[in-house]
Amino acid sequence: MKKEILLNPGPVNLSQRVRKSLLKPDLCHREPEFIKLQNNIRTNLLRVYNLSGKDWAAVLLSGSGTSAMEAMLTSMVPDTGHVLIIENGVYGERMTRMAEVHHIKRTILHHAWGEQIDLKALEKIINQNNFSHVAVIHHETTTGRLNDLESVAKICSSKNIPLLVDGVSSFGAETIQFRQWNIAACAATANKCLHGVPGTSFVVVNRKVIAQTSVTPHTLYLDLKKYLQQQDANGTPYTQSVQCFYALDEALKELKDKGGWKQRQKQYLQHMKIIREGLIKLGIQPLIDEKDCSCVLHAWHLPDGISYTKLHDTLKKQGFVIYAGQGDLAKTMFRVSAMGAISKADMRRFVKVMGRIVKK
Ligand SMILES: *Cc1c(COP(=O)(O)O)cnc(C)c1O
Repeated sequence: MKKEILLNPGPVNLSQRVRKSLLKPDLCHREPEFIKLQNNIRTNLLRVYNLSGKDWAAVLLSGSGTSAMEAMLTSMVPDTGHVLIIENGVYGERMTRMAEVHHIKRTILHHAWGEQIDLKALEKIINQNNFSHVAVIHHETTTGRLNDLESVAKICSSKNIPLLVDGVSSFGAETIQFRQWNIAACAATANKCLHGVPGTSFVVVNRKVIAQTSVTPHTLYLDLKKYLQQQDANGTPYTQSVQCFYALDEALKELKDKGGWKQRQKQYLQHMKIIREGLIKLGIQPLIDEKDCSCVLHAWHLPDGISYTKLHDTLKKQGFVIYAGQGDLAKTMFRVSAMGAISKADMRRFVKVMGRIVKK
């Protein structure tokens, strides 16, 4: 099959090195070789942001990013807790849906998709309530907006409210200040900025906070405390996605060899610059100001007179997979991500192909 350049926000194009790791020997998840693999990944995930294993733990799950979000929300908000969920896109709304499904006490601070978080409104609602946590998406992949967690955290810290962060599309490429932002837990996945394969996700938890949290488990499979206890004791409650672990282990080593998350951010920014300058020159309008965008993904208005389907299908024939808008945005926009083992030459070719489509 011809190689396609994936410009969707995960799964991403794999490097040869990560792809080859999938061919390592078959392994039983109860054998010491697997435990060593699991321990390596747990240590190296913390190292991405220089976190000490004494204060923090990476808990590994077999499931997509959504499973990590759900494990975080259901395991961190105590029985007597009350979570404020900040919505400004699909993923914030997904957290609300999770809280509904699990009957977690919640209040919603809603914004339209793409809007920036209203810090005044946040301050007001926090002063009027007694929240145990604030749950927030870091990079809202719906629109490419990078939420201002620093300001959110400052407001929440003034009332000593810890954050539950969805870092699914930012972990490994954006600044995350675990201590300064008073993060209790951050959910993320192997197959976005870390360049692994889909099937493994994880939650980085503050050990002290989770130890002190009293939660009657809402779900058997997503009970983070149980995963943490068993993984700390060199085990796993259930079968893990062994081959995905191989890939994540290799992907983390590759990230380290290439200079860590800051270097990855630099790479994404270089890709985005080529795309952004190129598309703007073609008259295609971005949805969000550049200063408010993540380095990971930018959203664009569809060029005049070209439907998403037409754009997508034409690009696909040329070897590029773009991503549709969600919900109401499906008819008016498209998204381009910079993640994965792709090159500046790929980005230049993408802009060239876009030029041919727009000028037709
Ligand atoms: C992709 C994404 C998710 C969901 O991840 P899945 O792997 O599709 O379950 C959650 N939150 C954000 C911010 C994402 O970008």
